Amino acid sequence: MQFENTLAFARKLDRIDPLKKFRSLFHIPKVNLPTARLPDGQGQAGGKTAIYFTGNSLGLQPKSTKKFIVQELTDWAELGVEGHVHARRPWLYYHKFTKKGLALLTGAKPSEVVAMNHLTVNLHLLMISFYRPTQTHFKIITEAGAFSSDQYAFESQVKFHNLNPDRAIIELKPRKGEHTLRTEDILAAIDQHKDQLALVIFGGVQYYTGQFFDIKKITRAGHAAGAIVGFDLAHAVGNVKLNLHNDNVDFAVWCSYKYLNAGPGAVAGTFVHERHAKNVDLPRFVGWWGHHEQERFRMKKSFIPMPGVDGWQLSNHPVLPGAALLASLDIFQQAGMKNLQAKSVLLTGYLEYLLGQINNSEKKFVILTPSDKKARGCQLSIYMKQNGKKVFNALTKAGVVADWRDPGLPARQAGVIRVAPAPLYNTFEEVYRFAGIFKKALK
Ligand SMILES: *Cc1c(COP(=O)(O)O)cnc(C)c1O
Repeated sequence: MQFENTLAFARKLDRIDPLKKFRSLFHIPKVNLPTARLPDGQGQAGGKTAIYFTGNSLGLQPKSTKKFIVQELTDWAELGVEGHVHARRPWLYYHKFTKKGLALLTGAKPSEVVAMNHLTVNLHLLMISFYRPTQTHFKIITEAGAFSSDQYAFESQVKFHNLNPDRAIIELKPRKGEHTLRTEDILAAIDQHKDQLALVIFGGVQYYTGQFFDIKKITRAGHAAGAIVGFDLAHAVGNVKLNLHNDNVDFAVWCSYKYLNAGPGAVAGTFVHERHAKNVDLPRFVGWWGHHEQERFRMKKSFIPMPGVDGWQLSNHPVLPGAALLASLDIFQQAGMKNLQAKSVLLTGYLEYLLGQINNSEKKFVILTPSDKKARGCQLSIYMKQNGKKVFNALTKAGVVADWRDPGLPARQAGVIRVAPAPLYNTFEEVYRFAGIFKKALK
């Protein structure tokens, strides 16, 4: 599409957007600008609707979430313990209600996905099963600069097996002068380490650069090297189209409070490919909720895992967070990942185009995220060479909710502003207005 740098053009894209009605299903936060404060100091009513570009950190609340949660509160009030069986959605089976939605979002079969625990917990649980180092094969390949929690998890898993993290963890860095990894270099590294490789684990979409890794190719290369392949999809699920089953990924984990809009501390998700579904030999840390469903309440010794990913569950399902997830998945199912993907490509493409229109002859900023739309989701990571924090603060003041990442460089407040227009609730007009605010803030 030929973009135009005008408000009228942005509004036209909003008018013809097939997903435009979805914005009204969300609560859009207000920012309380000092000038908009009410005389009584309350602020709220005078607040201005934020340009909320940080769904990559905490997605917005669907208006329906309250209804879903209230349903469970009502059932609990009226039924007490009987709610386990007699609630409108019986709590005993609550983990089953989100399977369909999660399967659609991840390109999996319902038996391959389950909502449980939190992301890092699930990462540990699955690494216990799938990172099984031997004398010869013990290495983990991952991207350099992975999200801190993942780095801690990898390191502690390696130490748990009495191995040295410096030897066992191979972190791949972009080539000199480049910001993101080339797929060919990832594949070459996997091949190069194959005689010692146990696990390949990458982010789906890298949280810092916004790079969407080639899941299919990385998985194929990992398997060719005899390794297990897992992904952390925290920034991918609900953001890019995933095909975990067909891509043959062994396992994946994600959280649900980012693009999935399931609320702060939401219940996370896990994928285990069906070829591992009945493998009872995999070591696991287990609990009663992973035990064979018909036998669960006999409370007897001898664990028999449920087939599929359900066999990795430990505890009974957190119903209130589960209800919030259900509310959100309901919206995703209505919108459809294919439609969301199509809008996302346009929306972020428009943002990239407008940023490109800003006179940047002094090279004040660089977009780290790949310009190839197949290699990114909706996030663009804008690396500010100087005065980044000042620019970020100016954006905030003007009503933009974005995210500031300080890479810990000493120099001149360099850092990254991450902006993620989410196709479910952000608009082309917001992207246009953002670009105007950003341009002004640069001065
Ligand atoms: C957000 C995020 C996390 C957060 O972990 P929690 O266990 O949900 O607190 C971990 N890893 C990645 C890659 C993330 O983006």
